[in-house]
Amino acid sequence: MVRKPVDTERVQQLYRELLIALGENPDREGLADTPRRAAAWWTEFLNHDPGTLDTTFANDNSHDGLVVLRGIDAWSLCEHHLLPFRLTVTIAYIPGTRVLGLSKLVRQLHAHTHALQVQERITTDLAHALAKAAGTDDVAVLAEGEHLCMSMRGVKAPEVRTLTSCRLGRTADDPTVTTLFGRLALPSPR
Ligand SMILES: [Zn+2]
Repeated sequence: MVRKPVDTERVQQLYRELLIALGENPDREGLADTPRRAAAWWTEFLNHDPGTLDTTFANDNSHDGLVVLRGIDAWSLCEHHLLPFRLTVTIAYIPGTRVLGLSKLVRQLHAHTHALQVQERITTDLAHALAKAAGTDDVAVLAEGEHLCMSMRGVKAPEVRTLTSCRLGRTADDPTVTTLFGRLALPSPR
């Protein structure tokens, strides 16, 4: 996703406007510095630099089984409500001649979560980005999300978790991935 950098100064002005539109006095003590803080937060979150994403190492011992990372936590922002959602992500892939540095898996996730997003797109885009970086088609991503737009507003369903998965290449019918992802996470259509 190509996006312009955040215009921090304009965001700060707009937050002041927003406070007024919300019926608040933006000059009262508790709010006086809120536009600046909020604009700084947006800038930090959206201008996030994930660092190097694609460092690989030779797969010396020809490990041809799954590499799995479980329980990776990340926060993103729902583009429909501008409210946060929290993801717990499992990544599984079968390395080819190269293996990806493990920290790169986490950085790749963060490269996709620091944006206005939907969980489905993070899941699919992350799987394809990892496949490209690792030079293999055999990548699977499972994401479990808790969405504040679900828990806080509307249906008020705090216990609901949204599961999304994307299984590419040989992971689509790998029984270990199926067990790992659980029966609730259906394989994505090929
Ligand atoms: Zn939402």
